[in-house]
Amino acid sequence: MPRNIERPDTLLDSLGRVFQQGLGGMQVVTGGNDREQQHQNTRKRQQRLHIWFAAQWTVPRKSALRSREAGESADTKSEPEEVEQQFHNWTCQFSTLRGRNRGQHSTGQQIHWLSWDAIVPRITNSQEAGASRYDEGLVNPTKDGAMIRSRRLLPAIVRAIVFSGLMMLQVPPASSQRTPDQQHSYRKAMEEADQKIADEVKAHSELIKNLAYLTTQIGPRLTGSPQMQAASDWTLKRFRDYGVEAHLETTKVDHAWTRGSETASIISPIQRRIGIHAYGWSKATDGEVSGTVVTLDIQKPSDLDTYKGKLKGAVVLARKPADLSASEPNPENAYDAVIPPQRGVVNQGMSWRERAELMRQIRDEEPKLILSDSGKPDSLFSMTGAYPSYNASGVPMAFLTHEDYDLIWRLSQSGPVTLKANLQSTFSAKPVPASITVAEIKGLELSDERVIVGGHLDSWDLGQGALDNGTGAMAVLEAARALESLGWKPKRTITFVLFTGEEQGGIGADTFVKNHAAELPKIDGVLVLDTGTGKVFSIALENLWETAPLMSEIYRPLQEVFDLQPLSTRYFGASDHVEFLDKGVPAYFCMQLPAHYREAHHSQTDTFDKVIPDQINEGAAFLAAWAWNVSEMPQPLPHHEGTKDASE
Ligand SMILES: [Zn+2]
Repeated sequence: MPRNIERPDTLLDSLGRVFQQGLGGMQVVTGGNDREQQHQNTRKRQQRLHIWFAAQWTVPRKSALRSREAGESADTKSEPEEVEQQFHNWTCQFSTLRGRNRGQHSTGQQIHWLSWDAIVPRITNSQEAGASRYDEGLVNPTKDGAMIRSRRLLPAIVRAIVFSGLMMLQVPPASSQRTPDQQHSYRKAMEEADQKIADEVKAHSELIKNLAYLTTQIGPRLTGSPQMQAASDWTLKRFRDYGVEAHLETTKVDHAWTRGSETASIISPIQRRIGIHAYGWSKATDGEVSGTVVTLDIQKPSDLDTYKGKLKGAVVLARKPADLSASEPNPENAYDAVIPPQRGVVNQGMSWRERAELMRQIRDEEPKLILSDSGKPDSLFSMTGAYPSYNASGVPMAFLTHEDYDLIWRLSQSGPVTLKANLQSTFSAKPVPASITVAEIKGLELSDERVIVGGHLDSWDLGQGALDNGTGAMAVLEAARALESLGWKPKRTITFVLFTGEEQGGIGADTFVKNHAAELPKIDGVLVLDTGTGKVFSIALENLWETAPLMSEIYRPLQEVFDLQPLSTRYFGASDHVEFLDKGVPAYFCMQLPAHYREAHHSQTDTFDKVIPDQINEGAAFLAAWAWNVSEMPQPLPHHEGTKDASE
C-alpha cells in the first residue's frame, strides 16, 4: 500500500465529511470587516467550539481502520501531536454559530456545550453496546469502527481538548442508563404505535377539509385582523369538536393593518402601469404621490452619507435588483428554497440590525416612497412587515415584482425616472387582540411534563396563507384529532399550539413562553412544522447535540414508519421554535421537500391548490407520532442553557 493513503481519520477530514452531510449551518467565522477584528472574534469564538466534533472524529472510515489495524501509518508524526495540531488549526478557523435573530440564518452566535463527561460515556457506550446510538441517525458509523477508534483516540482527544482550552463544561451527561433490551422494547412499541397513528390519519384525516375551510371561507390571516381572530375561534372549536381540551391565550398588538387599493405607474421616460403591494403595516401614501427615482448602492452603513440631503421627496430603490440566476436551482428543502444557506467563507455584509438602522436613516431623509424588489421569478410578489411591528412605518414602503424593479433600475442608470403611486392601507385606531390556540391531551403519569407540536396560524395576505402556514397549522390540528381518536393516554401531556404573529416577529410564541414561564423546565420538547406542504423527510437537530442520543432513539421508529432520512445536523431559525430554544427548551424544526414553497412563500400564489394532500397528511401523522414517542420516552430530553430569561 502506498504511504500517502488518504487520511480520512484526521479531524479536518472528518469535519469535512460532517460538513458534506449537511452542516450548512456551520460557517467560517467572520465578524467585522477588518482582519484583526475578525481574528479576535475568531479567537473568542473558538472557545465556543463544540466538542461534539471531537466525538464525531471517532467515526472512522472502515478502510482506513483496517490499514491502521494492519500497522500501516501515513506519516511519522505521532497521532496525538497531529490531533492537537489539527484540532488547534480547526478551532482557530471555525466555530459553529447558532442564529439568534429571527429571520437571520445562522449569523448569531451561542453554543451550548457538551461536557467531556457527556462525551466519554457516549463513546464508551458505543463500545459496550456495539453500535453508537449517538451516531446512529447522524452518520451511521461502522460498528467495530467506533469501538476501535474510541480506544485509540480517547487520550488524543483528551489532550486535544485540553490543548484547546475548551473545558467550559456546562451540560450534565445525557447518557442513557437503560439496557439495550429496554431500548429495543421502546423501539418496537413506538414502531407499532407510530404505524397505528399513520393508519388512523390515512383512514380518517380531516386535514384537507379543514385546510379548505381555513383558506377559502376564512382566507388569509394577518395578525390582529378579523380573519385571524375568526381562525383562532374556529380552530378552538375544531379541537373541541374532536374531544381535545382547548383554549385561547390572547395578547394585544398595537394596531391591526388592512391593505387598501394599490396602484403605481412609471411616468417617464416611458409610460407603464406596474403592480405594487405595500409592506405590511406600511403607512399609506398621501393620496397619489410622484417622485424621481433614486437608486442606492450601499454596502455598509456609512455609504448612506453620500445620499444625505438628496432623498427628500424621492422614490428610493434601496438595493440593487436581486440576482435570480444565483439562486440554488434545486434546494434540498423548503427552508433553503426561501432562505438560502450560507456556505464557505461568508461575507456577512450588513447585519439585520444594521439594515434596520439604515432603513430608519433613509426614512429620516423623508423620501415619498421606498421600494423593494420581490426577488422572485415570474412576477411573483414577496411580502414582509415594515418595522417596528404593528405600527405605521415612517415612510410608505412597497414591493414591486422583480421584473419591474429591474426595469426601473436599468432605466435610472441612463437618466431620470419618475414614478407615481397610490397606496391606501388603513390602521385600527386602538390595539387589537391576537390569540394563540392551545390544546392538550393530558398525560397520565407525568402530566406536568409537556411535549409540544406547533405551527403558526397567521399568514401574509396576498394569497390565502395555504403553504405558509395553513398546512402546518392544520397538520397540528389533525395530529390532535388522530391521537384523541385512538383513545390512548400519553405518559406526558401532549400540547398542540397554533401560534400567531409569527410573520411579524413571533408574538404568539412569546405569549406562550411568558404565560408558561414556570412550566418551561418541564417542557420535554417542541417540534414546529412551518415550510409548506412537502413531505417531512427529517428533523433538524438545531445544534442540540446533547439531545442527540435520545432524539436518535425517538426518531428511529419514525424513520421506519415514515421512510425518513437521518436526523439532520442543520440549524434553522426563523420560526416559533426559536423562542423556546432561547429559553433552553429543546425545540426542533421539520425539514420538508420544497414542493412549491419558493414560489408560494409570502406571494400571491400561496393558495390551496398548491397543497399536496398525501404529503401533508403524512406530515400530520409524523407530528403526532413524534409527540407520542417523546411522551413515552423514559427520560426527558435534556435542556440547554438558554440565552434569555422567560421574562424577556
Ligand atoms: Zn411560516
